[in-house]
Amino acid sequence: MRLLVLLAALVAAATCTETFFGHQVLRVVPQSDEELQKVQELQDLEHLQLDFWLEPRKLGLPVDIRVPFRSLQAVKVHLEASGLSYSVMIEDVQALLNEEKAEMLRSSRHRSLDTATFNYEAYHTIDEIYNFMDMLVAENPNLVSKLEIGRSTENRPLYVLKFSTGGTNRPAIWIDTGIHSREWVTQASGVWFAKKIVEDHANNEGVASILETMDILLEIVTNPDGFAYTHSTNRMWRKTRSKHAGAICVGVDPNRNWDAGFGDAGASSSSCSETYHGPYPNSEPEVKSIVDFVKSHGNIKAFVSIHSYSQLLLYPYGYTETPAPDEQELHEVSAKAVAALSSLYGTKFTYGSIITTIYRASGSTVDWTYNQGIKYSFTFELRDTGRYGFLLPATQIVPTAQETWLALKVIMEHARDNMY
Ligand SMILES: [Zn+2]
Repeated sequence: MRLLVLLAALVAAATCTETFFGHQVLRVVPQSDEELQKVQELQDLEHLQLDFWLEPRKLGLPVDIRVPFRSLQAVKVHLEASGLSYSVMIEDVQALLNEEKAEMLRSSRHRSLDTATFNYEAYHTIDEIYNFMDMLVAENPNLVSKLEIGRSTENRPLYVLKFSTGGTNRPAIWIDTGIHSREWVTQASGVWFAKKIVEDHANNEGVASILETMDILLEIVTNPDGFAYTHSTNRMWRKTRSKHAGAICVGVDPNRNWDAGFGDAGASSSSCSETYHGPYPNSEPEVKSIVDFVKSHGNIKAFVSIHSYSQLLLYPYGYTETPAPDEQELHEVSAKAVAALSSLYGTKFTYGSIITTIYRASGSTVDWTYNQGIKYSFTFELRDTGRYGFLLPATQIVPTAQETWLALKVIMEHARDNMY
């Protein structure tokens, strides 16, 4: 084990991979508007190069900040001078990355030739996931097909798996994972969902009954350029990899790029921000491809976009305080979904509308899909609550996917039973 960790560290140092030696993730929990303001001040200090894993949200909710080694002193001084207490969530980010890399090296020794022996308990590269999709389609030609809905900025195919038992343009459920590339447990869960759908269908249980009347559409690697970049260069990359004219930095936040309150408060106009909304709505091909697909499909009844972390189930709106017309129903479905999720391992989720539960966010996915008439629009934030954050150990992939699936099933069944 130690040898592998050492090897992983050497690989990181020898390639162009960005390293995070001595970076810490600090947690602050603002209890007053004044404290919140003090934390927000840190966001404006660009020279500190802080990475907000959890942005300032409601009072009492944690703010998690990855602080580069060279900025640690300055940040701790700022916090202490402001009378803000903090805790160290992660002592050394690179140590966790070395563990993660060692685990991947270990699991990649066994390359599977079918989806039965595929290792669902490991993180995989984009090539491995695309290969998994091809195997799944080849094994289940009468159930699974692979649609290419567009190309990314770097010309990678944008694949959607379609699970269908027949019919033409049946009502459908959409699920996407990985629109933020560093949220690795989401793509890994997407892979597990794909296999689970096939198994349920084969065993005539679970979602098999849903597939009698509806299709399931699953985009696992929704931000492929960003995902490839998290493997090759910077594990902490969140955005797309586009470079727009006049922009100083690379990338747009694909969850602020949708045409719903676009550019309002709750997104940044600075290209270097992690929440940069982009130059105009749908500027990112990863977003535009879904927009075009959803519009031309015209029969999507539920749309679920999956993120990590902080254990939340959210529904519209994020850009306005005006409650969604279906708020009460969405709230009730959320309560049932969260109860089902918790029933497996006791994992606790909070739920509510985006703006009342966390913060104002404009241009987000599910606000747009809801405004398109897809009533059952939800977004998840999966495990954990911050012990590992985006660096969730691979041992938690399958439990995370299993519990999330129970919540997804509630949403899918509700959509099926109430779609007309
Ligand atoms: Zn996210």
